[in-house]
Amino acid sequence: MDTPTSSLPGPQVPVFNPPKRLLMGPGPTDVPERVLAAMARPTIGHLDPAFVEMMEQVKTLSRYVFQTSNPLTFPISAPGSVGMEACFVNLVEPGDTVVVCVNGVFGLRMVENVKRCGGTPVIVEDAWGEAVDPAKLRATLKSHPETKVVAFVQAETSTGVLSDAQTLAGIAHEHGALVIMDCVTSLGGVPVLIDAWGIDAAYSCSQKCLSCTPGLAPVTFSPRAIEHVYARKTPVQSWFLDLNLVMGYWSGEGGRTYHHTAPINPLYGLHEALRMIAEEGLESAWARHQRMHDLLKAGLGELGIELLVKPEARLPQVNTVLIPDGCNDAAVRKQLLTEYNLEIGAGLGALAGKVWRIGMLGYGAREENVQHCLSALREVLR
Ligand SMILES: *Cc1c(COP(=O)(O)O)cnc(C)c1O
Repeated sequence: MDTPTSSLPGPQVPVFNPPKRLLMGPGPTDVPERVLAAMARPTIGHLDPAFVEMMEQVKTLSRYVFQTSNPLTFPISAPGSVGMEACFVNLVEPGDTVVVCVNGVFGLRMVENVKRCGGTPVIVEDAWGEAVDPAKLRATLKSHPETKVVAFVQAETSTGVLSDAQTLAGIAHEHGALVIMDCVTSLGGVPVLIDAWGIDAAYSCSQKCLSCTPGLAPVTFSPRAIEHVYARKTPVQSWFLDLNLVMGYWSGEGGRTYHHTAPINPLYGLHEALRMIAEEGLESAWARHQRMHDLLKAGLGELGIELLVKPEARLPQVNTVLIPDGCNDAAVRKQLLTEYNLEIGAGLGALAGKVWRIGMLGYGAREENVQHCLSALREVLR
């Protein structure tokens, strides 16, 4: 017998071929062929001059999507939640008061971050499905003049609500606070104007309106935020996310020092995804998301399905729809997935079982997708 023998036989599993789905949940979203093809290119060293040059382009393109001239703008090698963590661990020291606006899941996650940094969270609370109320933020800052940081989520993916980031940031600055903004779902889908609004630290992720695969978190820090990082009395408790160390890797012009091994191929993907946004132009992308939202809303109206959020606070790329009476939430979503290859999002937290979230993020915001979703819903609900 010349079949190879081994005393350590490995488990034999088949090749994984993912089913072909249409992703219309709150992320991840469909990744364009161009981006997948970019990721399949040969891996090179992360300190190779060719790679370093591509990284510089990723930074330039990231500054464009964030609408900022902040030199410290780069993707963290981790998902969006780590982008969030990077902002808090660098800007919050033990004893700092941080006002956090909470109107959904991701605001609550910010509160957790503040606590773990040893900060004191002060919560401005609004109902799930409502925008952050600027008057409440103003009142809270009046009674907490010691506030160092104000944090809010521009687009609450858990509820499909868009808050008025410019107004909230303006109020924070009147009170001398730094601003941390979550723009994970907003970036690329609705205006995010970091410099015009004076946002000090912001983070996003690769798999929502940027239409790349998950695993990268573009962040941007203003020069004022970096001064605060340099002036810290205590070291940043996370070695990996300490901007003092990351800066040598990502922002060092010319010479780069080893910090960690960058995820080479995912960065090829982000590079291509950002190139696609730059080709289309941000304003065209924002307008496209709004058009697809209008189209979906009209079609849902014909099916008698209502949206949870008031028109003035609706996020075009994440549509939170009320599950029709008598409808089995999980059964409908399962049928959409198995019979129509269509994934839509379930409700989260307080909205679980009450809503679905229909996402049209980035490359997913296309008319054929809206029509496919509407016709699948029409047939399943009949
Ligand atoms: C998705 C999301 C996050 C977390 O991003 P991950 O990549 O899942 O870690 C944070 N904030 C908001 C508003 C999000 O939508």
